[in-house]
Amino acid sequence: MEIRNVIILGSGPAGYTAGIYTARALLKPLILAGIQPGGQLMLTTEVENFPGFPDGIMGPDLMDYMRRQAERFGAEIIYENAVDVEIGNPLEKIPFKVKTDTGKEFLSWTLIVATGASAKMLGLESETKLVGRGVSTCATCDGAFFKNKRVVVIGGGDSAMEEALFLTRFASEVKIIHRRDKLRASPIMQERAFKNPKISFIWNSVVVDILDAEKGKVEAVVLKNTVTGEISKVQTDGIFIAIGHKPNTDFLKGKIDLDDQGYIVTKNGTTETSVPGIFAAGDVQDKKYRQAITAAGSGCMAALDAQRFLENLGISH
Ligand code: NAP
Repeated sequence: MEIRNVIILGSGPAGYTAGIYTARALLKPLILAGIQPGGQLMLTTEVENFPGFPDGIMGPDLMDYMRRQAERFGAEIIYENAVDVEIGNPLEKIPFKVKTDTGKEFLSWTLIVATGASAKMLGLESETKLVGRGVSTCATCDGAFFKNKRVVVIGGGDSAMEEALFLTRFASEVKIIHRRDKLRASPIMQERAFKNPKISFIWNSVVVDILDAEKGKVEAVVLKNTVTGEISKVQTDGIFIAIGHKPNTDFLKGKIDLDDQGYIVTKNGTTETSVPGIFAAGDVQDKKYRQAITAAGSGCMAALDAQRFLENLGISH
C-alpha cells in the first residue's frame, strides 16, 4: 500500500488550511473530509469576524473557498470519516494506519488531526427521543420549521445568542433559558439579544425534562430554578440546545494524550501531540479560543510542524 506523506483528518478551517499549506509544500496531502465536510461553519449563517471579508461572508461559502484553495494546489479529498488510527512510529519507519467508515485503509508518515468538536446535549432521555422532532442543535438548519411558532434556546454563550437572533427571523417568540443570571456571551452579542423585541430571558433555570416524548413532539420544557429549586413548565414548539461542544476524539482514546474533557494535548505552543508524527489543529485541541481564524492559524502551524518532521525523516515531497 502507498505510504502518504500526510493525511489530514477533518475539513473545517483547520483541516483545509493544513491542506492548503501541505499541498503548497508539494507534500500531496490526503484530506479525509468526513461525510459532512466543512465543519461547524457549515451550520452558521454570516461570519462577520473572519479577516478579509469586510462585509461578512456566509459560513458555507467560506468553507467552499477554503476547499477549492486546497484542491487548487493538489490536495486530494475523500469524503469519509476516520474511525480508527493504528499508531505507528515514523522514527522507526512504521507508518500510521487510518481506517475509514467504509473500511478503507490508508498509510501515512504523519497525521494532522483536525476533527473539531460536536454540539453537547443536555443528557435527558426525552431529549434523545425528540431530536429531529422539535429538539435541534442547529438554528440555521432547522429554524425555518418554526415559522410563527414559539421556541426556546438553552445556553448563555455566543452560540446561544447567535441561535436566538437567527430564530427571530421565523419564530413568534424566542426565550433564552440560562442556568445563571449572567450571560457568558461577548458584549456585542449580548447587546443584540437584549435589544431584540422577540427575545426574552429565563434566568437561573435548567431543563429537567422535555414534554412530550410519548407524543413524539415538543410541547413544553420543565425547568428547575437553580436558586429556589422551584419547578415550572414553559410551553414551546421547539428547543435549540447551544451549550457548547465536545471534541471529536473518541477514536483516539488510549492512543494519544487527551485531557480530562477529551481535548488533544499539544506541546508548548506547537501542534505536536504525545505521539511523534501526529499533529493536532483547531477545536479538537482548543477549548479556549475556538474561533474559525484561530483554527485556521493552528492548521497552518500543524502543516509547518508536519513539513519539518518529514524533512527530518528525509522526506521533502
Ligand atoms: P460556551 O461559550 O462554552 O457557552 C456555553 C453556554 O452553555 C454557557 O453559558 C454555559 O453556562 C451553558 N451550559 C453549558 N453546559 C450546560 C448545561 N449542561 N446545561 C445548561 N447550560 C449549560 O459555548 P459557545 O456559546 O458554543 O461558544 C464557544 C466558543 O465559540 C466561544 O469562544 C464563543 O465566543 C465562540 N463563538 C463565537 C461566535 C461569534 O463570535 N459570533 C458565535 C458562536 C460561538 P455557564 O455560562 O453557566 O457556564
